[in-house]
This record gives sequence, C-alpha cells and structure tokens, in this order.
Amino acid sequence: MTIKAYGAHAGNKPLEPMDITRRALGAHDVQIDIVFCGVCHSDIHQVRSEWAGTLYPCVPGHEIVGRVSAVGAHASGFHAGDLVGVGCIVDSCKHCEECDDGLENYCDHMVGTYNGPTPDAPGHTLGGYSQRIVVHERYVLRVRHPEDQLAAVAPLLCAGITTYSPLRHWKVGPGRKVGVVGIGGLGHMGIKLAHAMGAQVVAFTTSESKREDAKALGADEVVVSRNAGEMAAHARSLDFILNTVAAPHDLDVFVELLKRDGTMTLVGAPASPHPSPQVMNLIGKRRSIAGSMIGGIPETQEMLDFCAGHGIVADIEMIRADQINEAYERMLKGDVKYRFVMDCASLAA
Ligand code: NAP
Ligand code: ZN
Repeated sequence: MTIKAYGAHAGNKPLEPMDITRRALGAHDVQIDIVFCGVCHSDIHQVRSEWAGTLYPCVPGHEIVGRVSAVGAHASGFHAGDLVGVGCIVDSCKHCEECDDGLENYCDHMVGTYNGPTPDAPGHTLGGYSQRIVVHERYVLRVRHPEDQLAAVAPLLCAGITTYSPLRHWKVGPGRKVGVVGIGGLGHMGIKLAHAMGAQVVAFTTSESKREDAKALGADEVVVSRNAGEMAAHARSLDFILNTVAAPHDLDVFVELLKRDGTMTLVGAPASPHPSPQVMNLIGKRRSIAGSMIGGIPETQEMLDFCAGHGIVADIEMIRADQINEAYERMLKGDVKYRFVMDCASLAA
C-alpha cells in the first residue's frame, strides 16, 4: 500500500513530502494508522547523516502513537480501534539472551524503526513521519492514557523510555539525589520521572530561560551549568547523573558532582566524541561513567503504565508536517518546550 510520508533524499537536503509503501499485513503484524509522531534529536542526527550509515530516502520518527486499523490472523493481542504506540524498535532476532530477557534494545539484530535492515521496500525501515505503519505485534505497545492526551504520550515512546530505563537500572528513588543534565526532550522527561520515583532532583541547564520551567517539571533545584559557584554548591553530593546533552562537552565538571561510587550515565549521542574525562576524577572516588540505550519492550510497557498511573505526559508543541525543517532548526538552538509532535493528519493536506 502507498501512503504519504515526510523524509529526505540526502543528508544535506531538507525533508519533503514523499510517497512510500508499507508491506502487506503478515500473520503476526499489526497495522497502525499513525495519529501523532514525536520529533527526537536522534531524527536530526540520522537524517543529516551525523551518525554513520544513513540510507536514503530517510523517513525519521520513532515516537509513534495511533490506532490499530487491521490485525494479522495470529496477532491475537490487538484489535481494530486499540490505541497503541511504537517506539525505536520494530524487530529483533527474538531468540538471543537479550531478546529472552526482554532487552531487545541490546539484541545484535535489533531493527530500528527507521534506517534498519528489512526485506520490505526500499530495503531499510521508514519511520513515523507517515500515515501508517505495519509492525510485528511483539513491538507494539498499549496506550492506557486518556485519548485526549495521545499527542503528549507520543514522546514517551523514546524520550520516556530512554530516561526511565537508566533511572530504574541505577535504582533511583527516595533518599537518592539525582542530576539531570540538559533540559530538552529527554531531559524534561528525566526530571518528571525521577521526581515521580521519589528522588531529590537537580536539573542542570545551559539555558537561564529554563530555570523556572525546570522547577515546574519537578526539579527541587536548578543549576545553570555555566555558573561555577552554583555547580560547586553540589560538589560530591549526587548519587546518579543522567546526561542527555546532544553535543560534545566537558564531562569532568559533572563527574566532580558525584559522590563516592556515584555513576553518570550518558544517553545523549553526539555526532563527535566528548573530550576524554580525567581518569583521576573517576579513580579517586570509585566513580563510573556508563551508557544506556532506549529500553526493551516489556520495560517500555512498564514505563507507559507507570506514566498513565502517575498522570505523566510530555510537554509538547504541535507542528504540521511542513513545519518539520523549521522545528529541527529550533531544536538545534534549544528552542523547544519540550518536544515537537507532528500531527500526522497534516500529511494528507
Ligand atoms: P533535545 O530535545 O534537542 O535536547 C538536548 C538538550 O541538550 C538541549 O535542550 C540543551 O538543554 C542541551 N544542550 C546543551 N548544549 C547543547 C548543544 N550544544 N547542542 C544541543 N543541545 C545542547 O534532544 P533530545 O531529543 O532530548 O536528545 C538528546 C540526545 O540524546 C541526542 O543526542 C539524541 O540523539 C540522544 N538520544 C539517545 C537515546 C539513547 O537511547 N541513548 C535515545 C534518544 C535520544 P539545556 O538548554 O537545558 O542546556
Ligand atoms: Zn529518539
């Protein structure tokens, strides 16, 4: 079937309308009419070929919410009309240790929602800036939020799980002091989730203009990271730091804020490396720097249900498909509060 989408034909070209095809419904497939798709900074990295190996045409988008419009004969878990989501994963090998553990995100054969290998035309996956998608039922999530929150649920499918998973893995909760660095799409979800988990939350931003917002999002304290005095006030006090910054920067200024045995987990994936951190800063207090990538399917469902139970959604600004290039430019300037979401009905216009 042919549908409308928005994507790019090269890394140095703007996104534009295009027609794409979706595969015929397989026995285990769910067909989803996409209603909204969040706009992640990874979409920019990928479509502009800032990471290696972008295939064109590239249709980004992995924060998908919509309604089931058809189900395959053996896709028994879903019914037409169900509200569902699809995040960053649309396939994996389904039998390795990671898949068995529900950590499909770490499967060597994980297939991303866009730019992943597939037998379907054009030979790589095409993402959610489109009207419809066909996905194996294993990778389809249930949305239990009220329907009128659907647009603000979309960013949970990447920004939500990418922050939830490390916060859980490093046991963030009551009695723990947690830093969130970078208040963008990921960071604003990190603040909301760490707060809901009961932690004391300190937000670190380069933007003075986000100081008041960060408190409203759930931060107990906000530090403008350029201000050395404000940074020094938190020296050796944090149990855990979640670093979401999309650009290379000095990690040492944050490592120094960790307590003995503290960990800073990097989820930001800049196009070029961070300057190497000072080894002595790690050795001297048995500190760690770690990384984390999205989350597995069971944990993504757990996160969606946690958010539904706690009334958590993203703070969004809705755009039409033809505003996507402008939205990218604004994101690069940090000018979004806090996630753009594409109204996919606008693709029909
Ligand atoms: P975003 O909405 O653009 O937010 C990034 C934030 O980083 C900015 O709002 C800004 O916050 C801060 N920042 C500071 N200096 C910056 C600079 N020079 N350039 C850009 N940002 C700067 O991005 P996002 O969607 O949250 O994604 C953040 C990063 O995570 C990206 O690299 C993305 O590819 C990556 N990511 C990783 C995973 C994973 O699985 N690990 C998943 C999704 C995304 P302040 O204004 O508060 O300083
Ligand atoms: Zn993403």
